[in-house]
Amino acid sequence: MKVIDLTHPLSDALPVYFPWHPKTELTKTANYQEHRCEVTRLSVGTHTGTHIDAPSHVFKGAPRIDQYNPNLWVKNALVLDFTPREPRKEITRVELEAKLKQKGFGVVIKTGWDVHFGKEDYYKTYPPLSTEGAEFLVEMEVPLLAADTPYTLEVHYICLKKGIPLVTNINNSSQLQEGMIKLIAAPLLIKDGDGAPARVLAVLE
Ligand SMILES: [Zn+2]
Repeated sequence: MKVIDLTHPLSDALPVYFPWHPKTELTKTANYQEHRCEVTRLSVGTHTGTHIDAPSHVFKGAPRIDQYNPNLWVKNALVLDFTPREPRKEITRVELEAKLKQKGFGVVIKTGWDVHFGKEDYYKTYPPLSTEGAEFLVEMEVPLLAADTPYTLEVHYICLKKGIPLVTNINNSSQLQEGMIKLIAAPLLIKDGDGAPARVLAVLE
């Protein structure tokens, strides 16, 4: 068994892209010398770094991150490889149709864009899943969607309306090959959370 970590580390350096997303701060509140132990306060937005969106992120009254059955966070998922990918080039429905033939599996979209994480380009010129592509994934009854990019607001609305949580900004996608993996995408169990930072792992047989 091989495990690949698909998570960007939580650190002070974690970028945020919109003014309403809080900065990540790690502050030591105890140290070995004075307290004989180390403790850190972590302040992080629910949509920073590698994280999962719940439907309540964009729909009032919709399910929150703590309301999902934990079975959802461990899923057989198909890695769909779209590398090499030009900036801004949408992933189309036709491209997805060519790769995804069976209903009911999780999907991991690999574009290779995670290497730009932390740079200004990351949010500005990423190759997004198209709205028609998202509609196709809904038709294919995808229970859980992951990508090494952000998602457009339209894709948020399409997927979250159907209750499909969005695993956002995964890392190390170059280590994934097209095909089936076991995806573990475990959001922090935040009470009434609209999303949560997550540890995301790929388990290969
Ligand atoms: Zn989010």
